[in-house]
Amino acid sequence: MAQQTKILVIGGGPSGMMAAIVAARRGAYVTIVERMPKVGKKLLATGAGQCNLCNTKPTQRNYHGTDTAFMLPALEAFGADTALTFFDALGIEVREVESGRVFPITGQASNVLDVLRYEMSLLGIREVTDVKIQEIKPTESGFRCVSGDGETFKADKVIVAAGGTSSPNLGSNGGGHKMAKALGHRVTETFPSRVPLLLDTWFLARLKGVKVRDASVESHVDGELQRKSSGDLLFTEYGISGPPVLNVSRAIGQYERTNHELSVSIDLFPGHSLEGMEALIRKRIAKAPYKPLEVFLIGLLHKRLIPVVMKEAGQEDLSRTCGDLDDAEVSTFVGVLKGWRVKCSGTKSWMNSQVTAGGVDVSQVDAATMESSFVPGLYFVGELLDIDGDCGGYNLQWAWSSGYVAGKHASG
Ligand SMILES: Cc1cc2nc3c(=O)[nH]c(=O)nc-3n(C[C@H](O)[C@H](O)[C@H](O)COP(=O)(O)OP(=O)(O)OC[C@H]3O[C@@H](n4cnc5c(N)ncnc54)[C@H](O)[C@@H]3O)c2cc1C
Repeated sequence: MAQQTKILVIGGGPSGMMAAIVAARRGAYVTIVERMPKVGKKLLATGAGQCNLCNTKPTQRNYHGTDTAFMLPALEAFGADTALTFFDALGIEVREVESGRVFPITGQASNVLDVLRYEMSLLGIREVTDVKIQEIKPTESGFRCVSGDGETFKADKVIVAAGGTSSPNLGSNGGGHKMAKALGHRVTETFPSRVPLLLDTWFLARLKGVKVRDASVESHVDGELQRKSSGDLLFTEYGISGPPVLNVSRAIGQYERTNHELSVSIDLFPGHSLEGMEALIRKRIAKAPYKPLEVFLIGLLHKRLIPVVMKEAGQEDLSRTCGDLDDAEVSTFVGVLKGWRVKCSGTKSWMNSQVTAGGVDVSQVDAATMESSFVPGLYFVGELLDIDGDCGGYNLQWAWSSGYVAGKHASG
């Protein structure tokens, strides 16, 4: 009887579990080693506990990194349709919401983890938890992987699925990058992405906790637009958060440690054109020209935003009546409502970021197999690589796709 390929998967996140299942289904003997007490801790936190499982329309444009064409073969081999068929077979019913985002119908990320773990147990995959692999040593017959406590795992092939550095409380803390480097792999500069932004401004304490529904946010570097996104915006004691902020944050992270000027532009009323907004404000002024500035916007703008927006538009005396504003003052004020430019001082830390930008240099990895180009039998998958996706299920899609490809090829 042919001897089973022994595969060690380092990291029990989405990419590692997918790789393990695919390899075991093809007859490999698979052990998955996880440093946390349980596998899939980050998966449980995805989509605010609801798990944005994948996206039905993933394209290269939804991904970032030094060479995004790298992910195309994996996406071709295991795209959204295949991912949905895979999860359907495991029992997960899904619903598609706007922009192709797919969630389990139950809204429970734990269901996704449950079915993956059940499948792993059916396939006889050995789960070893509370063990952190620290060193991967190539040997004549394969690999010897050593944990922090000196425990040794021998394997024919190793799949490194240790994630990036984001949200280290959920497991991944950059250890995978260290192991890749120790084996001679380049790791491109990493920085937090999908992360709240720090604003360099005077009004933070005044606006802490204010939520604006359906705002539009842009990130700018040296005044040049980088990214635009819409959704609910939250002001915090340090800056801004919420889905549109996470979506535009990558460029700020990328240029944070440089001398470039970073800023955001907030449109509080993206549903109105500039002219439409000006017409609305003029109508409100004509209706009640006697109202003081601090009162005439009540009913249009969150109450705590009114004095801040007024001050940003150069209006210090809020007891003035709105009918007193001249044309230029109205235009300046409308300009703030529609394009409120605020200086940005950077991003929140790794602890608050959802995704790691940068990682193992993909030019040293075979895109068709995920195998290292110079350490045969060693594979890299998921967020550990220099590929990161937009919000919307693209990151889990990458974990499933790359995990599938590595699991398939490592198992021969
Ligand atoms: C709060 C939050 C919400 C998110 N929501 C979504 C979403 O809805 N949709 C989406 O597409 N993406 C989402 N993401 C991103 C997505 O979760 C990640 O991109 C994805 O989990 C990456 O999978 P991975 O397997 O590559 O890495 P991880 O999920 O980070 O898994 C790596 C695993 O390896 C383990 N490990 C690390 N080092 C070692 C070691 N030395 N030895 C043993 N084990 C080790 C870690 O403990 C961890 O369990 C979210 C992320 C966060 C933080």
